[in-house]
Amino acid sequence: MNNQKPIVEMTDEIDDELTDEQENILKVVFANNISAMKISKILSEHSNNILLTDYIVTGLIYRLMIPMTNDEMTQSIKEAESILYASSSDEEDTTAADTLDDTETVDEDLVDEYLNTKRKIKYNSCNCDICNKCRVCLINFGEFIPNDHLSTIYKNSIVETCEKHNLIL
Ligand SMILES: [Zn+2]
Repeated sequence: MNNQKPIVEMTDEIDDELTDEQENILKVVFANNISAMKISKILSEHSNNILLTDYIVTGLIYRLMIPMTNDEMTQSIKEAESILYASSSDEEDTTAADTLDDTETVDEDLVDEYLNTKRKIKYNSCNCDICNKCRVCLINFGEFIPNDHLSTIYKNSIVETCEKHNLIL
């Protein structure tokens, strides 16, 4: 205990400052993002184009408009916890590593195109269930009314991010 690394102390401090409710919100947001990244990965795997920004945004929109099932939520929360508490259990470390590997694959395989002029968000032509639903979500995103505070923040941040990166929804 005497030779704790600074990062551990920092983590402990964060733990102390977070209430259980805040910690749960953090977990849910994180779980949501992990799941959205998986949707983005499917979109890029089902496409010949290299459009990382578009697929990441679409993944986030999909996850906002089509909430996870209870099973998906349980699984994603587990993955989020395995990353957040990576140092506390060896068994969970494996899951965290797997998840990170997935993310790295997306980052390494794709080179994003630079958006210096405004353009409409693009989508692939795959007809699988996920890609189809993504296109439906993109069409309806503007009219979508979130049903809770967290989803509203989530929607607004997607809109702001797209504006900042010249992506028209
Ligand atoms: Zn597809």
